[in-house]
Amino acid sequence: MEERYLKFSNWLKNKFGERVLKICVDGGFTCPNRDGKCGVGGCIFCSEKGSGEHIKNLNITEQVLSHLNSYRGKRANKFIVYFQNFSNTYDSVKNLKIKYDQALVSDKIVALSVATRPDCINEEIVKLLSSYAKKYYVYVELGLQTVNEEVAQFCNRGYSNQQFTQSVELLNKYNIPVVVHIMVGLPNEKQDDIEKIVNFINNHNIQGVKIHSTYVVKNTKLHNLYLEGKYEPLKFEDYIKNVIYIITHLKKDIVIHRISGDAPKDILVVPEWNMHKKRILNCIFKTLNDKNLYQGCFYKN
Ligand code: SF4
Repeated sequence: MEERYLKFSNWLKNKFGERVLKICVDGGFTCPNRDGKCGVGGCIFCSEKGSGEHIKNLNITEQVLSHLNSYRGKRANKFIVYFQNFSNTYDSVKNLKIKYDQALVSDKIVALSVATRPDCINEEIVKLLSSYAKKYYVYVELGLQTVNEEVAQFCNRGYSNQQFTQSVELLNKYNIPVVVHIMVGLPNEKQDDIEKIVNFINNHNIQGVKIHSTYVVKNTKLHNLYLEGKYEPLKFEDYIKNVIYIITHLKKDIVIHRISGDAPKDILVVPEWNMHKKRILNCIFKTLNDKNLYQGCFYKN
């Protein structure tokens, strides 16, 4: 099938000459939006595990080795270590180095990915990350979710768009690729928010994007809002429409890492369609094919 967008798995294959898989690691971090430094309770959609549900209770090195020794570890020769849960730069530089080093324990690891918040990035941390770039492909995943500051405030995001821009510029200064996380279907989202976020991304020096559907999981503030009838998740068709808009308006050289959220089935409340990832992906691929659309076909400089 013709590739309609720059898919991360294909981009990796091209860069490393073979399939590269991800090892998700829980580094035991927390988040300044939970521990009181900039907020309490976290973003309204964030689960108790900080957006990383599938990680066993092992130390960092054990997590990596157990993955490499499992059947998944036999499915590739090259791996990305992905620090996923909470804010993975929220510690002293000394402790961060200890934690990252604890994960980089195999010759099979070719890349280091760190998910974090813009307000947990400073020059010393970026210098540390760039020190790994001689040996590994290092990139940072930054939360943005929305550029509608009112929606961001309602969601208790806890940082401004300007802080996001400053972090991107700092990472750009050290040539560290940035992958931005965005969400579709947040509460109070306006019709043109998707258009605005795509323009925002195109106007920054950003190398990748992860598109997430907003889903409600148990024990979150969004769950309470849903129970009170104050939040209605997006319909399947509307999600597809929005993702198609994003893909077709995004610059062609921005790598698309994902086009749907991966809701943990045991705690997912709504929307039900979020459980059927294959259906979501098939529908997006089919729409792109049927209408002969591809990434960036409507992008205007
Ligand atoms: S920044 Fe991330 S980890 Fe922190 S509360 Fe928000 S979603 Fe959760």
